[in-house]
Amino acid sequence: RAERSQAKGQPSTQNVFDVQAVRRDFPILSERVNGKQLVWFDNAATTHKPKSVIERLSYFYEHENSNIHRAAHELAARASDAYEGARRKVADFLGARSVDEIIFVRGTTEGINLIANTFGRQNIGEGDEIIVSNLEHHANIVPWQLLAAEVGAKIRVIPVDDTGQIILEEYAKLLGPKTKLVSVTQVSNALGTVTPIAEIISMAHALGVRVLVDGAQSVSHMRVDVRALDADFFVFSGHKVFGPTGIGAVYGKQELLEQLPPWEGGGNMIADVTFEKTIYQSAPLRFEAGTGNIADAVGLGAALDYVERIGLENIYRYEHDLLVYATRGLSAVPGIRLIGTAAHKASVLSFVLDGYRTEEIGVALNREGIAVRSGHHCAQPILRRFGVETTVRPSLAFYNTHAEVDLLVSVVQRLARDKG
Ligand code: PLP
Repeated sequence: RAERSQAKGQPSTQNVFDVQAVRRDFPILSERVNGKQLVWFDNAATTHKPKSVIERLSYFYEHENSNIHRAAHELAARASDAYEGARRKVADFLGARSVDEIIFVRGTTEGINLIANTFGRQNIGEGDEIIVSNLEHHANIVPWQLLAAEVGAKIRVIPVDDTGQIILEEYAKLLGPKTKLVSVTQVSNALGTVTPIAEIISMAHALGVRVLVDGAQSVSHMRVDVRALDADFFVFSGHKVFGPTGIGAVYGKQELLEQLPPWEGGGNMIADVTFEKTIYQSAPLRFEAGTGNIADAVGLGAALDYVERIGLENIYRYEHDLLVYATRGLSAVPGIRLIGTAAHKASVLSFVLDGYRTEEIGVALNREGIAVRSGHHCAQPILRRFGVETTVRPSLAFYNTHAEVDLLVSVVQRLARDKG
């Protein structure tokens, strides 16, 4: 249907899905802020939750609540089934070969720290190099700095061009015998750049180097297939894909996870303990010490079901149309500077406006009920690459509308006029 409407010169998103029906699935979108209808353009920071996720959490606590893997009673079985069922949903969502390749963690940050403390400590030593890109979120910089300081390794940074896209020729120059890991984002949270992750992975693999993909900003906007990408590790946060906070997942190829030492020790991750010696569980339980975030893992499973029902291909097409529309609208504002103009982008717009501090714009938008992030977006190196400390960052999701974009553009236009 979308192809047919495109052929007639209609927007490609017509009939992809009914955005008003989708909006009714998200109770918070009816909220009023400062007497105005809430407009949520802070999706890169966190996304809202559909009723199905909220209800799934309530159902868990009303009918299934128990610790998992530990008792013969009925509720333990229900909770364990729900939790392991969610692991299956994550595995299917990412295209993993096996559920044993999915480790539940608190989110992307914990996931990257897990890999740094297991794979990193096992495989990276004095004089070795870890490659990241200039686009990274602090969560994909600081864990590597901590590791590098501990073991005497070095961090190398792939530069970006003036559009905010990774320069593959420069990456090729950094790759070498000292490279022990490449850790790069699939989508930049500050600029929205979609990186050439498949090429990044295949270039690393040509030298036998493993690659971690930070998927925090990609999974809610595009279909991810870890096997097609041949990613070695892939990490994401539930709260950025319409699921609860405090839950996320690490994907790791099974043969890799099986070789990694545990990180945290405690219950759940062991097969047998004596005071002399402990035998660990195999992956993924070896990496899930203690009582995990059981209910929220189940909620994440419901979020992934919801996203699959809408369809990631539909989401991608709709959001792309909205992003192009918003980019066109904002570009026409006098005195605006859009930062991050790569040909391939997802969801995020980042800008500064002559005569205003970015916070002032955030405050002015909030007065109209519009939520955006103004700040450094936990990605200071990439903003500094463009000579700024902060930007205003509207970030879109599939429940946003063209009318909301019109409102955003009109408020920014009014601000520009006031100074003009
Ligand atoms: N990586 C990227 C690209 C992000 O956008 C974020 C969050 O903004 C993170 C990592 C960290 O995610 P979390 O705070 O959910 O652990």
